[in-house]
Amino acid sequence: MKILFVASEAYPLVKTGGLGDVLYGLPHALHARGADIRLLLPGYRALLQQLGQVRILGWFDVRGAEGMVSVRILETRHAALDFPLWVVDCPSLFDRPGNPYVDAGGQDWPDNAERFTVFARAAALLAQDALDLDWQPEVVHAHDWQAGLLPAFLADLPVRPKSVFTIHNLAYGGYFSHGDFVRLQLPSHWWSPEGVEFHGGLSMLKAGIVYADAVTTVSPTYAEEICTPEFGYGLDGLLLSRRYKLHGILNGIDSTTWNPATDAHLAAHYSAGRILPGKRRNKQALLERTRLPADDAAMGAPLLGLVGRLVEQKGIDWVLAAIPQLLAETDARFVLLGSGQPAYEQKLVRLAKQHPDRVFVEIGYNEPLAHQIEAGADLFLMPSRFEPCGLNQMYSLRYGTPPIVFKTGGLADTVVDANAATLEDVTANGFVFDTPEVTAFLDAIRRALDLYRQPALWRRLQQTGMRQSFDWSESAGHYLSLYSM
Ligand code: ADP
Repeated sequence: MKILFVASEAYPLVKTGGLGDVLYGLPHALHARGADIRLLLPGYRALLQQLGQVRILGWFDVRGAEGMVSVRILETRHAALDFPLWVVDCPSLFDRPGNPYVDAGGQDWPDNAERFTVFARAAALLAQDALDLDWQPEVVHAHDWQAGLLPAFLADLPVRPKSVFTIHNLAYGGYFSHGDFVRLQLPSHWWSPEGVEFHGGLSMLKAGIVYADAVTTVSPTYAEEICTPEFGYGLDGLLLSRRYKLHGILNGIDSTTWNPATDAHLAAHYSAGRILPGKRRNKQALLERTRLPADDAAMGAPLLGLVGRLVEQKGIDWVLAAIPQLLAETDARFVLLGSGQPAYEQKLVRLAKQHPDRVFVEIGYNEPLAHQIEAGADLFLMPSRFEPCGLNQMYSLRYGTPPIVFKTGGLADTVVDANAATLEDVTANGFVFDTPEVTAFLDAIRRALDLYRQPALWRRLQQTGMRQSFDWSESAGHYLSLYSM
């Protein structure tokens, strides 16, 4: 089966979040099952800099905001990718420094509407084999709002490949003005509440939802949640009416990179069959690395870790409220890594300064430390208010570090709360709270700390998570069935 993947990021070339991880893991898992893949990305400067030999497949003139724009389609083989990479090379739109979506000041690039319209137009031409490459995809898989117009362009063709559109996070809708819609000369019959119009403007995410043959999102529970007003960002009514073509398929994790038995970032290796002494050595190394005391008392005290974007979605305000309380009533220690909203960053740094022997905070993006926290901590905090899928809770399950999560999205689909019944039938793998309040979060942490003091039960909890498979191969099977429907 020939499948064209179209997205705005893919690990390891360009990544700002979980989207980039999926655009690596999923096409590789499909390739391993025999699919013939092409991955199409925009030619950002940071991406072009990483390319070796490229072949020019051809040129297109497509409509931009002020007349026609010329784009080149490049093909290259990249060492990290098992299939050819295609690039939409258009220097005036993509060859600029920094982030794919925002400028150095954190503001959206002012021409984002044009950038991702031109990208989608070029992708639609490639999907029709307009360059006569003798490669005609049977399925076009577009991701998030940046590729949202692609299913709409395809829907207008008399003969076309099947289109699948995946929502990775409904919070980002790709909203632009009616003026942009007109300037870009998008088809006027799209402009209706049943089309791309959303509250007087254009939503590229909505275009994907309306016009794709199938819509997926990244966990079964999130697929349910986005059909409700609480999680729907005003698109819940539309999604509910398209429920017949909406599928929740859980993301996988890269189980080669995230494997405690082989992870090169770790001080020692371990596995479900033999957790100690390896995990203990990682705890010691993490305490030393973070300059927290690493004496017997510290080694015996529970160590709670967190890695993630420091934004409201991730429940960082609950973490900030819970830590002082836990410092007062328990001997727990904390290692926290992330970056995001300045107010959260400052509050966390202040907390670490006040309690240098019990709280460590690093602001920034640090891949090795993220692995070391997953391995060295006893418990992992992930109280997200909403979480389309979430990767870190799956990493921590794999690393024998039971996660404490709010019951939402992919967290609800992967973490089973430890209680008498689930401990008895050996399904418990973490701790779940279901009221979105800090008191409920604290209760879950207290329950976790209780169980931590019961070594036999704790070992069983760790092993249950470590033995679960979150490999991409299972999800890839679900996508293949969907492509063939
Ligand atoms: P989201 O996509 O909402 O940010 P996910 O849990 O799906 O959340 O994925 C986040 C990814 O980014 C994970 O691979 C996680 O380990 C990584 N990550 C997030 N923040 C950091 C950080 N500060 N340092 C290292 N890795 C991070």
